[in-house]
Amino acid sequence: MKKNFIFVHYKDTNFFLYMQVFIDFIHYFCYIYNMEKICSKCKHSKILSEFYIDKSAKCGFVSFCKECGVNSRKQNKEKIKERNIKYAKNNPQTIKLSQKKSRVKNKEKLKKYGKEYREKLENKIKKSKANKKRYYENPKKESERKKKYRKDNPEKIKELDKIKNKKFSNSNPHIIAWRSVLKSSLNRLGKPKEGHTIELLGYSALDLKNHMISLFTDGMSWDNHGEWHIDHIKRVSEFDKDTAIDIVNALSNLRPLWGTSRIVSGVFYEGNLNRG
Ligand SMILES: [Zn+2]
Repeated sequence: MKKNFIFVHYKDTNFFLYMQVFIDFIHYFCYIYNMEKICSKCKHSKILSEFYIDKSAKCGFVSFCKECGVNSRKQNKEKIKERNIKYAKNNPQTIKLSQKKSRVKNKEKLKKYGKEYREKLENKIKKSKANKKRYYENPKKESERKKKYRKDNPEKIKELDKIKNKKFSNSNPHIIAWRSVLKSSLNRLGKPKEGHTIELLGYSALDLKNHMISLFTDGMSWDNHGEWHIDHIKRVSEFDKDTAIDIVNALSNLRPLWGTSRIVSGVFYEGNLNRG
């Protein structure tokens, strides 16, 4: 049964279909004529393809541009995470229901993933058991074999080391930061590194981690280290060249500072890169 668009009652289920077609037509029209829209965040006028489509919005597009959306999600990563956790805590039934729905909907997919995961895990365990057995049966031969393999496959080893190092630095940014605080200050003072990091600094990577956490401002976390830096309150260049390195790098002289100036939750923070 066909109905004329103009006379459709809004309770008619087809109404939404017509509306969708209408909105799609407007989008098409806007794209063709390169129409622009002002972003509610950056206030720049941009062509409509720079905005995501939002059919529930009055004009059919999200009010802010794609770039601002990406930036805001990046900046509020922690907040979004917190909000989601809070929502899950306050709405356990809703979450349970939606999880159940998604499980039913993706039953076959989940089954396949589960099987693949179990097979992968079993293979991994088998392989590691075999490796261990081979090692314990003949440790000397095994270490020789490993040495030879490293020597014969330098490119492969380089690549593997790179992946391993990246994995390590991603999960232990505080250890990397702890080493680099010492290294860069020694470089700036023109001194060689003589001794272990923990002896030279007098505190552990974990001490540094906790000290920074105690001074974090809104939005900082060890996940976004790199956006903020460890800053020397009294600069390294202001110290006498013979000052002990543990005084230059004393925890009381270190603080976290954003790299570039910014406003977080309405508070202005000067970035240490902007200080020159
Ligand atoms: Zn924008």
